[in-house]
Amino acid sequence: MKPATEIAIRATTRPVVLLGDPVAHSFSPLIHNTGFRVQRLDYVYLACRVPRGALPDAVAGLRALGFAGANVTIPHKEAMLALVDQCTPHAQAIGAINTVICHIDAQGAVTLIGDNTDVIGFLEPLRPLADCLTGAEMVVLGAGGAARAVVYALLTEFRPSRLTIAARTRARAEAMATDFAIYDTRQALQIVSWNEAAPAIRRACLVVNATPVGMHPHVEASPWPHVEDFSPGQIVYDLVYNPVQTRLLREAADRGATTIDGLTMLIGQAAAAYQHWTGHTLPRQAVQAALQPLLQG
Ligand code: NAP
Repeated sequence: MKPATEIAIRATTRPVVLLGDPVAHSFSPLIHNTGFRVQRLDYVYLACRVPRGALPDAVAGLRALGFAGANVTIPHKEAMLALVDQCTPHAQAIGAINTVICHIDAQGAVTLIGDNTDVIGFLEPLRPLADCLTGAEMVVLGAGGAARAVVYALLTEFRPSRLTIAARTRARAEAMATDFAIYDTRQALQIVSWNEAAPAIRRACLVVNATPVGMHPHVEASPWPHVEDFSPGQIVYDLVYNPVQTRLLREAADRGATTIDGLTMLIGQAAAAYQHWTGHTLPRQAVQAALQPLLQG
């Protein structure tokens, strides 16, 4: 059967929605609608700008209107925790939800389940490298929302011997270290300022950029322009996905490091959400082809 060229909206079509503010920049509608269209699934993905105070009403709408689920983005990821009926252990541990699954039972009762698929999306390209990552030294640049998912994922999956967080605002990193103390069984976490991070970066097996530095339109910026600190044998992972090849990744690759781009994680976290809602595997090649014209470099 040839893939459909557009989504057919019928009386049976189940909506999925991105709740955030802003949402206009998001690639999620294109990712998920490409999947629904190519696989001829009876779903449609919308993006709704939901101001901070309106989140409870938006969630009541999900329950009342038979939505299949939702994605949640800034500024609602933390507030969503109080509005769902259940949380996965990942979402609970990180304190943020990026995906809601609306489960409707035979009697029509709706249960909202919150998950954080950033963890699975982030880990996906690292799992084949587990031999060199388990027990290794690592650095995470940044201490925001994405860094929380990254640090939790690294602590629980690879039990690093040292995990250094380089933070511009130390208090955010300290709050994270306190929240994750129970997962830090090897007392691996240490917090440094940006200008103290060089020794940890030189020693690290894995360096993750969890800041927006280098993102379009500021493509000439790098969170770590000291290229001499990168070497073969290291893995450098940039969460920024637009452009796909950031200055950080280009320079790390020139120094012989293995690089992983943020598009891999973006599609991985979307694939996990898509599977939750539809039970199907996201057609990644079609999604990547659909995104290509929108990505820089
Ligand atoms: P966030 O909550 O705003 O956190 C950003 C972090 O970066 C904060 O710690 C911030 O420090 C730090 N930072 C910002 N500019 C900096 C600079 N010039 N120098 C040093 N530190 C700086 O944002 P987020 O949600 O964590 O997102 C971070 C990045 O990850 C974004 O580019 C986002 O698009 C990307 N991301 C990608 C995926 C994916 O699937 N690939 C998923 C999630 C996020 P302060 O605390 O001092 O402000």
